[in-house]
Amino acid sequence: MLEVNSLKVKYGRAEALKGVSLTVGQGKVVAVLGSNGAGKSTLLKAISGLVPVSKESSIRLNGEEISGLPPDKIVAKGISYVPEGRKIFPGLTVRENLRIGAYLRQDKKGIEEDMERCYELFPRLKERSNQRAGTLSGGEQQMLAISRALMSKPKLLLLDEPSMGLAPVLVERIYEKIAQIREQGVTMLLVEQNANLALTISDYVYVIANGEIKLQGAAKDFLRERDLVKAYLGS
Ligand code: ATP
Repeated sequence: MLEVNSLKVKYGRAEALKGVSLTVGQGKVVAVLGSNGAGKSTLLKAISGLVPVSKESSIRLNGEEISGLPPDKIVAKGISYVPEGRKIFPGLTVRENLRIGAYLRQDKKGIEEDMERCYELFPRLKERSNQRAGTLSGGEQQMLAISRALMSKPKLLLLDEPSMGLAPVLVERIYEKIAQIREQGVTMLLVEQNANLALTISDYVYVIANGEIKLQGAAKDFLRERDLVKAYLGS
């Protein structure tokens, strides 16, 4: 579904991605593991059209080149991004935040149905639908950020460290929900510092360090290579 080739991103003179290539197959969950500053967020931002990429970079969705397109066009093609730190709109209600996730859609009935589907997945959000999003707990805000991304009906969901800043019990809950979303047939590219977590849910894994892919393989093989992964992640 997604093919990234020779992806390069520079911030001024600093090369954050130095020619990254990866693929995500339809219906799969692919994890990109790496330590702080490895380039994980930059990768997701580049795919989402939020940072400029070099000329030789290629990002294809179902065979169609999407690099260089503006972010709204990329959302319209079916890629939705859940940023690190959630970035919900704190002054708007839960419901309004979800509605914003569907801003490119016109099908009112479909939007209502998808909102109900989000509420089924996260009943807590339904209870709080008229509450301002800024009053939600960290875990609830992560649920809202994921739901908002689902409201655009994505083919591919990009998740940036969904476990970040959450207590272990909440992290577990979020990952259970991610597994349920996966069962609904949504393809996912997930970046994580927490390798153990990511490995429980992924089919395939890439390890990134210093803007380059250093290791890749099936998640089940990685479970046996813990020490090697630890060496790259520094944990
Ligand atoms: P983290 O989990 O800490 O966000 P990461 O793996 O997602 O780490 P990136 O945020 O992609 O890493 O950062 C990759 C490199 O690019 C780092 O060296 C970082 O300092 C640098 N960088 C990121 N954003 C910018 C920016 N806006 N301007 C300049 N340098 C940046």
